[in-house]
Amino acid sequence: MDSVFDALLAEVIVPAAGTGSRLGGSTKKTYLRIEGEPLLVHTLRRLGTSPSCAGIWVVVASEDIGFCESEILPRCAGVPIRRIVSGGATRQESVLRALQQIPSDAEYVVVHDGARPLVPTDLVARVLNQARTSGAATTAVPAKDTLRRGSNEHVTGDPVPRENLWRIQTPQAFRRDLLLRAHEQARSEGTQATDDAALVERLGVAARLVMGDERNIKITTPDDLPLATALLRAEQADACPVAIRTGLGYDVHRLAEGRRLILGGCEVPHTHGLLGHSDADALAHAICDALLGAAGLGDIGTHFPDTDPAYHGADSMVLLARTVDLVSRRFRIVNIDSTVKAEAPKLNPHIGRIRERLADVLGIDIERVNVKAKTGERMGPVGERLAIETEAIATLELRRADDISG
Ligand code: MG
Repeated sequence: MDSVFDALLAEVIVPAAGTGSRLGGSTKKTYLRIEGEPLLVHTLRRLGTSPSCAGIWVVVASEDIGFCESEILPRCAGVPIRRIVSGGATRQESVLRALQQIPSDAEYVVVHDGARPLVPTDLVARVLNQARTSGAATTAVPAKDTLRRGSNEHVTGDPVPRENLWRIQTPQAFRRDLLLRAHEQARSEGTQATDDAALVERLGVAARLVMGDERNIKITTPDDLPLATALLRAEQADACPVAIRTGLGYDVHRLAEGRRLILGGCEVPHTHGLLGHSDADALAHAICDALLGAAGLGDIGTHFPDTDPAYHGADSMVLLARTVDLVSRRFRIVNIDSTVKAEAPKLNPHIGRIRERLADVLGIDIERVNVKAKTGERMGPVGERLAIETEAIATLELRRADDISG
């Protein structure tokens, strides 16, 4: 807290007692779910992350208090909810009921609709900062569409000039005593206003306009739900891109006499070796495929075709090193796990040096490279010592943009 701006705190009132009759259906709109959570939960979590939010007063219909305690509060861990307040017949009355419960030492209050779940987290601080100088501030966005008056069927008269026309949003921020006075006066006069800023205006205090946000939509009709869902998903994708990728690799080579057996870049003494265009290192090939698969770069055959004479008798560690170069443009290798299925020879004595060699070429610590040995239990091509099969899985982590060089 190193500036006045940071230190400014407000009690936040969230009216959510409306029936949402325009949405149809029996569920009240603030309890409708987007991305698996009630709208109200999204709203409260957002508000709770604002550094300007001292505490939240949620106003719901009296018959919903039990529901909120069992269904809403448990989903709001870490959100500083002060109290669930029993609402009134109108939004205005609901806000007043919360206002009357807020301790008089609270200097500022913010009012935000429960049905605006996409409130940007910095907006509370911005509107509050404006209320500090004027006593009242509201968020709003400029009217963009052409505005016309009309009857049911026809437009009438001239277009309404858009200049100086704003669509009012919440959050709105006020000095607590000012808003309380405005509400008490409205109640004694029996007047209703569309929002709290309009009530304060009746006391001669004009709310300052603070640029709101087009994404801060109010859920009013069923059409708004898919839009809100899309906006939430887009936000989540921005905040948390899928940074982990996995890829699967598999290979099999026939065993033949007179060939060297190469696995993971290491020669393993045996009566037979693997047959192939290159050195037939089935473990290296499976790992190459797993890496390419995780990176979405096709397979080993795409990059190193076995019809290309350049790869005749090739050292598969060279292919693996090239594969690592390819995937490293966008990814960092997290780990490799693999299995070699061979009836013979016994691989366990060689696994240590195989892992060491692979880790060296992959450029990662040995503890991130795992090699397991299995037999075929004397069944199938592996069990009958006709072939060696390999499997590998690679996990890659997307490199951050500022982390990629060259
Ligand atoms: Mg192969």
